[in-house]
Amino acid sequence: MSRHNLTVVLSQAQGKHPAKRALEEAIAAALIQEPGLDVSVVPYLYDLDQEHTGRLFLESIAGDMVVLAWMYPRAAFWVLDRDGIKGHFGEAQLKPPEFDDEEEEESDQALEPSKGIGSLEVPHRHIYCLDLRDFSSHEHYIQEIRRIAAECRQRREAESIEHQQAHPTLVDLGTGFGIRSAETPAPANPFTPEHVLTSPERRWYPVIDYSRCTNCMECIDFCLFGVYGVDQNERILVENQDNCKRGCPACSRVCPEHAIIFPDYKTPAIAGAPGGAVTGLKIDLSKLFGGDDAISIAAQERDRELINDGRQAVGLTIGIPKRQANKGQQPKDELDKLVDSLDALDI
Ligand code: SF4
Ligand code: SF4
Repeated sequence: MSRHNLTVVLSQAQGKHPAKRALEEAIAAALIQEPGLDVSVVPYLYDLDQEHTGRLFLESIAGDMVVLAWMYPRAAFWVLDRDGIKGHFGEAQLKPPEFDDEEEEESDQALEPSKGIGSLEVPHRHIYCLDLRDFSSHEHYIQEIRRIAAECRQRREAESIEHQQAHPTLVDLGTGFGIRSAETPAPANPFTPEHVLTSPERRWYPVIDYSRCTNCMECIDFCLFGVYGVDQNERILVENQDNCKRGCPACSRVCPEHAIIFPDYKTPAIAGAPGGAVTGLKIDLSKLFGGDDAISIAAQERDRELINDGRQAVGLTIGIPKRQANKGQQPKDELDKLVDSLDALDI
C-alpha cells in the first residue's frame, strides 16, 4: 500500500445477489488496472463490528479514501464517522440517472451552512462515498474515481507547495496526512483478503449525521432501550448500537433535524437520502391520509417493541418532544386543513 495512492474501498452487498456481485467484480477488475490506486474489498460496511478485520483495515487507512457501498453516500459517510473513520465529506459529482431538478434543489438545500454540531477530531483528509445502486455498469464509477484521484492529487500538490514554503527544511511527500522522511518505507499491509472478507452478522442501529444534529437530546429522551448516551463532552452518541430493535426506525421520526439515519430502511429519507424531510407529504403521504403523524407513528413503533420485550406500552406519555405537546394549541396549517377536508369527504 503506497502512501501516495488514493485508497478505494468496495463494500460488498449483503447476501450473494448475482447482479450486485457482478458489478462489484467488474469495478474491482477495472480499478486494479488504474495507476495510483490501492483497491480493497470489505463486507457490507454497516454490519462491521469493532472486532471485524474489515473495520480494523478501514481504521488503518490514513489518507484520502473513496468508499463504494450499497447505501446512500450520506449514510456511508456517517457510518464510517461513528466507527472513528473520519474525514471531510468529499463531494462526488456522480449523479444517479433519475436525479432531477427538484432533487438537485433539495441537495442544494442540504449544502447550506449546517447548524449541526459537526464531528470532532476530523483528520486532514477527504472521504468520498459513492452509491453502488446508482448505475448497473462499472464505467461511471471508474470515471468518477479517476476524477476524484486527480482532485486529491491536485489538493496534495497545492498543500505540499504551501508546506514547503512554510517549512523549507522538511521533506513533504505530499501524502496529505503528514510529513515523513523520504527514507521511511510505507508500512506493510497486515490484512489478508480472507480475513477482511469474513461475512459479519447483519446489524440494525441508528447512525447520527452530526452535520444536522443540534444535540437537542430528544432521541435519548424518546428511546427506552438504552441505545443513546453522551460522551465526555456531553454530545449525543449511539452508545449501545446493538440494543436497537431490528427493523424499527422510531427515533428517526422524532428527531427534529432528520439527523438519524437507518441505512437499510425502505423509506429514502430515513435511509439517508440527500435533503428531504422524513415526514414530508411527498414521502409519507399514506401515513398522513391515515390521520397519523410522524410522532404518533414513532410512539406506536416504540410501543410495539416495548410489548415484544414484555414491557408496558407508554404511548405518548414519555419522551415526546415539546413541539408535539404544543401541537394542539397551534393554528392549523394548510396541510392539516387538507387532511380535515379529505376526512370530511370520507375517502
Ligand atoms: S434528536 Fe436528532 S438533533 Fe436531537 S440530539 Fe438526537 S440526533 Fe441530534
Ligand atoms: S429505533 Fe427504537 S430502539 Fe432503536 S434507537 Fe430508535 S427508539 Fe431506540
